[in-house]
Amino acid sequence: PRRAAEIRALIRDVPDYPHPPVVFRDITPLLADGPALADVVEAFARLHLPDAAGRVLDGEIDVVAGMEARGFLLGAPLATRLGVGFLPLRKAGKLPPPVERVDYDLEYGSAAIELRTGTLRPGARVLLIDDVLATGGTARAAADLVERSGGHVMALAFLMELSGLGGRDRLAGRTVESLLRVG
Ligand code: IMP
Repeated sequence: PRRAAEIRALIRDVPDYPHPPVVFRDITPLLADGPALADVVEAFARLHLPDAAGRVLDGEIDVVAGMEARGFLLGAPLATRLGVGFLPLRKAGKLPPPVERVDYDLEYGSAAIELRTGTLRPGARVLLIDDVLATGGTARAAADLVERSGGHVMALAFLMELSGLGGRDRLAGRTVESLLRVG
């Protein structure tokens, strides 16, 4: 974003949450700040809207898909700004059947995400969005889910990339965008 340092200052670092040694990045103050939230949405949009010369930096997209839950908060306004629809990728058990499902490993335990069967048009160009890229496990599962459901992942976009955790490597071969990077 234009004012990256100001955006960064609105993300609160919470040591040892939910447990040591995790430093949790809390975007609540950013969401509560109207101009900052608009700036973040606009920064994501600029990567996917034609510029004055009609060029698109990262390719046009047909739908924004967001990871539950904070990917919804950034993804839905971005979809509106781009003039496309929004597809929620939900934690297991929240959507009525039929669903497509991908199981994946977490640092501690495992998880699954689901997408409503039939909501993704075959060949749809998808932009995946979430607040934080950490190990990349969630994002990789989300990309697999979209592609298993017939979509084409154009890019994955994050507000904040925790660059020491190898997330970008787990997404090798994909276009990964992050507005902020921290070590
Ligand atoms: P990963 O799968 O390890 O890359 O973790 C990314 C997922 O966990 C995303 O859905 C994030 O929203 C969430 N996450 C991981 N670390 C944090 C954090 O520090 N703050 C907020 N969300 C986080």
